[in-house]
Amino acid sequence: MQEQESITGSSDHRITLVHEMSTHNFDLIRFASYRTAMKLRFIQKKVNLHALDIWNVIEAFREQGLHALEPNSELSVARLETLLCSLYHSLNKRAPPTQQAHVDICSSLLLNWLLTAYATVDNVGKIRVFSIKVALATLCAGKLMDKLRYIFSQISDSNGLLLMWRFNEYLQEVLALAAAVYESPSFSYADTLAPSIFNSNAKITVNDFLDTMMSDPGPPSLVWLPLLHRLASVENVIHPCQCDACQRENFSGFRYRCQKCPHYTLCQDCFWKGHTSGSHALDHTVKEYSSFSPNKTIGQSLRKSFRCVPDKQKNNIPRFPEQPEKTLDLSHIVPPSPLPSHNGFSDGNFLSHFDGMGSLDSRSTAKSLDSARDDEHRLIARYAAKLAQESRSAIHHGSLRQKSLSPDSLFQSFHCEDISAPI
Ligand SMILES: [Zn+2]
Ligand SMILES: [Zn+2]
Repeated sequence: MQEQESITGSSDHRITLVHEMSTHNFDLIRFASYRTAMKLRFIQKKVNLHALDIWNVIEAFREQGLHALEPNSELSVARLETLLCSLYHSLNKRAPPTQQAHVDICSSLLLNWLLTAYATVDNVGKIRVFSIKVALATLCAGKLMDKLRYIFSQISDSNGLLLMWRFNEYLQEVLALAAAVYESPSFSYADTLAPSIFNSNAKITVNDFLDTMMSDPGPPSLVWLPLLHRLASVENVIHPCQCDACQRENFSGFRYRCQKCPHYTLCQDCFWKGHTSGSHALDHTVKEYSSFSPNKTIGQSLRKSFRCVPDKQKNNIPRFPEQPEKTLDLSHIVPPSPLPSHNGFSDGNFLSHFDGMGSLDSRSTAKSLDSARDDEHRLIARYAAKLAQESRSAIHHGSLRQKSLSPDSLFQSFHCEDISAPI
């Protein structure tokens, strides 16, 4: 009874969410990949998942005992609600007063959105553990590589090799997110998808998995996934110039430059929605920039070239690699303080360290943080290998359960030991 009340009482929130999303006119975006990424970014921020990183999510899974459950087992609405509430309560313990989440509203919104995203005829009021893991791991903050490592831990065997049938399930779960923002016509699941990404007979290790999932171009059905992460890192980047279509100055997000019309610049809104002016035409080649610099050489590694084409021509959907944003991706870096605040609170606290420094000239600082991040990733890789080894010998000795060295616990282990250590 209580579960029913909970669903009914908060379904209005979901309708409001969907209505609010429609007021943003994301459907006017010509490119399916950007459209999907923008819609999911909207949902992510509305339910405050952008303030939680993958480690917080894994921690909550463990606290609520999800790591010990079979991926196909189902959770009741009440238990999902408890999980989500615990996520937001622990977020509020870490978050500064100005960034506190409304636990009731956020968990109700997210709960209803997830239930709708994963609803089938015969699972009303229940949701699979694996669906929750994929949804939260995809929509929380953090680096795509960390998230994919976690996903791999969930879909690989005890020898560290990808299980194709589990990868297939992952694709179903992750593409349900695109469908939940009405993008299934562009990105939908099919049985043929998994074998088109990995050869069913090959032995796929974590590195093969990451190489393929983060390659350029990556799997066409998931092209929106790295883009979602790039959106998050550029949305606070300000370009000190004017959009030639809408005349807006100092716009944020991506910047586009026509390769045919001299000095012709567009903001992301205008480019995505096909606004033009003067002699510029939609079939001109443009380049995308995620930073601004008067110095030509700096943007070199960041800009991506593609032609602007409608997404109807499927092969021409612009695709981007998840390459490290060398100069400006300050959003998810562990701050150089003893606080374990790698939770996406960069806007308020962390970025203030860079105030007055001039973002264009902060490259040396960003560079040292970048190498700190490289160290972090080396640590993750080393610990993952070490713990996987331990996990294998534990299996060998038949003691996996007793030691609870499940994939979740592997991640938890190096989270506790290393990731939260100050750098
Ligand atoms: Zn514009
Ligand atoms: Zn042009």
